[in-house]
Amino acid sequence: MSKPPSIAVVGAGIGGLAVAALLKRAGYDVQVYEQARRFERVGAGIQMTPNAVKVLRRLGIEERLRQVAFRSELRLSREWDSGEITSELKLGEEVERKFGAPFLCLHRADLHAAIESAAPPEIVHFDMRLVGLDRNAGEIALTFANGSRVRADAVIGADGVHSVVRELLLGPEKPRFTGRVAYRALFPAARLGDTRVAQVQTKWWGPDRHVVIYYVTATRDQIYFVTSVPEGAEWMTRESWSAKGDLGELRRAYSGFHAEVRAVLDACPGAYKWALLERDPLPRWSEGRVVLLGDACHPMTPYMAQGAAAALEDAAVLARCLERTGGEGLEQAFKLYEETRKPRTSAIQAKSSSNTWMRTDADPGWVYSYDAWGAPLGESPSRVSE
Ligand SMILES: Cc1cc2nc3c(=O)[nH]c(=O)nc-3n(C[C@H](O)[C@H](O)[C@H](O)COP(=O)(O)OP(=O)(O)OC[C@H]3O[C@@H](n4cnc5c(N)ncnc54)[C@H](O)[C@@H]3O)c2cc1C
Repeated sequence: MSKPPSIAVVGAGIGGLAVAALLKRAGYDVQVYEQARRFERVGAGIQMTPNAVKVLRRLGIEERLRQVAFRSELRLSREWDSGEITSELKLGEEVERKFGAPFLCLHRADLHAAIESAAPPEIVHFDMRLVGLDRNAGEIALTFANGSRVRADAVIGADGVHSVVRELLLGPEKPRFTGRVAYRALFPAARLGDTRVAQVQTKWWGPDRHVVIYYVTATRDQIYFVTSVPEGAEWMTRESWSAKGDLGELRRAYSGFHAEVRAVLDACPGAYKWALLERDPLPRWSEGRVVLLGDACHPMTPYMAQGAAAALEDAAVLARCLERTGGEGLEQAFKLYEETRKPRTSAIQAKSSSNTWMRTDADPGWVYSYDAWGAPLGESPSRVSE
């Protein structure tokens, strides 16, 4: 590359940091602009399925994550009341052998910190909330709420489900509230007393609600659950990871569930509440030298645990497309990236929305086998077999 193009990444979430780390290594002049003043250690768990871990591997952080993560032997689906097992997937060594990488359950902050460690700290700028993009100039001018302005040859909008970059490209349109919220809680497993509860990662399926429970540490000292429960439309406007949920309401919502579920909810000292949002696939992901990545372009319900995984896959494929076209072909690279990624992310968005993933035995291979480093670039139909 003669003079490497400058690339501004908006948003230092999982996708933004991953793409910044990869592009920095490839020689680009990358800067990341994040609205938050600092990274908070939000109490939430996250599942990294094998397709996501293959991306983390190239970032050089797989070993670090293996050390801290919980690796469940099984992933179960169970009936909410009887506890009957309706699907059983072997994880542990077997998932690694079959799909080429482990299945990790983690504290979200451990994952975020590991990805952050892969990018040089001096390229991440905090307290920078993007409010405007001026694309008339040869370069793109970015304007921030604090009054500062910077210029870049290209912009990657990795600014999440309420993406300002998406709005500046495609016009205002709120994501769709699914009519459901997630309660999330992460707390010391010692509060459970009985350690036989929740030994393996389990999704408990009720008639109109569910709860997923798993440990998030290798030592099993921290346990996490995340629910999906019907909720009124006023929750649409909430977007904070720190909105508190009412424990009494939560426990009442699950009062008929199996004793194992109730034991976990009873032991929980406090929960957060998060509106579940989604969008239909967007008409396009880029315009000129501005492109979207992660939740900014394909937000989805968390029912397949693929939102962050898809953002990581995007980061890897975008880096490959830029490598293919070279520094001069930014727009071409962005088109190739969209062509490559959209069929897969649209299929995952649709499947996730239906909330049927792995309720009964099925082969998760079309999701977990994917290797963002080897997938052919360009349009290819997404193989959906479940
Ligand atoms: C309850 C729940 C459970 C989930 N569980 C899983 C799971 O187990 N596995 C999985 O793979 N996925 C999971 N997901 C999905 C996952 O959290 C998201 O898909 C993922 O965080 C998307 O990453 P991102 O980088 O695109 O966006 P985000 O992580 O949302 O990051 C966006 C960043 O941009 C910043 N930003 C926003 N606006 C601006 C602006 N104007 N200027 C500057 N910065 C800005 C934000 O502060 C943030 O740091 C879950 C989601 C939910 C809601």
